[in-house]
Amino acid sequence: MPRDGFRDDLATRVAYSYDNSRRRCTPAAVLFPEETGQVVKLVRACGEHGIPVTARGLGSATTGSAVPASDGVVVSFERMARILEVNPADRLMVVQPGVLNAEVQRVAAGAGFFWAPDPTSAPYSTIGGNIACHAAGPRAVKYGTTRENILGLEVVTGAGDTIRTGTRTTKGVVGYDLTRLFIGSEGTLALTTEATLKLTPLQHGRATIRALYHDVDAAARAVAAIMAGPVTPCALEFMDGTAIQLVGADHLGGASPEEVGALLLIELEGEPDLMHDLVESVSKRATVAGTVSVDIATDAAEAERLWDCRRALSPAQRRLKPHKINEDVAVPVSVMPALVKGLADLADHHGILILSFGHAGNGNLHVNLLGDDADLERRQACLVEVFRLVLDLGGTLSAEHGIGSEKRMFVEMELGKPSLAAMRALKRVFDPAGILNPGTLFPDD
Ligand SMILES: Cc1cc2nc3c(=O)[nH]c(=O)nc-3n(C[C@H](O)[C@H](O)[C@H](O)COP(=O)(O)OP(=O)(O)OC[C@H]3O[C@@H](n4cnc5c(N)ncnc54)[C@H](O)[C@@H]3O)c2cc1C
Repeated sequence: MPRDGFRDDLATRVAYSYDNSRRRCTPAAVLFPEETGQVVKLVRACGEHGIPVTARGLGSATTGSAVPASDGVVVSFERMARILEVNPADRLMVVQPGVLNAEVQRVAAGAGFFWAPDPTSAPYSTIGGNIACHAAGPRAVKYGTTRENILGLEVVTGAGDTIRTGTRTTKGVVGYDLTRLFIGSEGTLALTTEATLKLTPLQHGRATIRALYHDVDAAARAVAAIMAGPVTPCALEFMDGTAIQLVGADHLGGASPEEVGALLLIELEGEPDLMHDLVESVSKRATVAGTVSVDIATDAAEAERLWDCRRALSPAQRRLKPHKINEDVAVPVSVMPALVKGLADLADHHGILILSFGHAGNGNLHVNLLGDDADLERRQACLVEVFRLVLDLGGTLSAEHGIGSEKRMFVEMELGKPSLAAMRALKRVFDPAGILNPGTLFPDD
């Protein structure tokens, strides 16, 4: 480790003490490795002395998963942030974990490609963090999530062993799929030191459709019709009536917020000469009984204007109620109306404001329980019922943000005891001393 690769002054420790959850804990030291060999050495040393290790990208996690232990060290990958290879013929890119998602997209675009995982946090989150959290964004509906877009990894396990997983090919069946196991493991099994990303060619034709509906049922029927069709949108975003009321009439192209109970933003991409047919096919499917209007953006400026509605939502929520419990559940697309109806019933029952929006094509809704400190207990009680509803509908508690320390007490609700026991056993294989990100992902024993 270089001499300045170890810092234990208070200012540095405080700077690495938090992530985008409200949690914070000041670590004993922060380490800045520059190559895999140094990661091996530091993990082994921490293993010998039982010192907790929390890997860190840029700390944008919303679940506390990047918050260290007070007696532990943070391993920041900011000095391992190089793009090692761009290979258009093999449609892959090899990167170090500290490189920004946005930088990967910039360099890939130069070669005519993109990397499909596109979290909103792309400009301020790293590939190592994206992999550990199994991140995804709107494009997941067409191109898949992080798991579908990583070919292989180099990792250092909690035992200090360096493992290479996966292949440089898009097919490969030798052995267990350790790549998928490490993706989404939130730094609890191993530290990623290199990743081989699967690249997808950029499409040059693009169109945006905004569809307004009288109610959520109509919007959900439209989503089901679109997803049952031959054209997969590259984004299929949903906002419920509460979200629409909040952003106001300016974004509804003349429709009144009172007559609009749901909105879809649909983005299509493809070869330019095919766009007309794609737009027509999807617009037809988006037009169901209960449709208020379907507008198609004809140029980039118009498309940006349609997306403004979605962008206006976060600031509007903050203005209305600064505190929110922000969940990212997912259910099968076909039962989304039941989820939205169930959420409305729970909001009434608990007397709180629930607002939903998100990636409808994946059945992934950001369910925000808005309020202030005074009603926190009520919102927490409601949250448990939200999770029960989601699981009863065959869904999952987190589609993209992960578990961290925030949601770990709920994972048994979804996984059940046998799965949880198998996962704990796997953790012991890769991290025998239990030093990697303790307090994350698993409930207390
Ligand atoms: C405004 C905002 C918008 C967001 N939008 C999205 C979104 O659209 N989709 C989405 O999926 N998420 C989103 N997120 C959540 C977050 O940005 C992602 O989870 C992101 O992948 C975290 O990356 P990071 O580099 O900040 O990682 P960190 O927050 O630093 O770490 C996250 C986790 O990864 C682990 N980790 C980091 N690097 C490594 C490594 N090299 N090896 C092993 N473990 C490692 C950490 O220990 C921790 O468990 C958003 C967050 C914010 C604040």
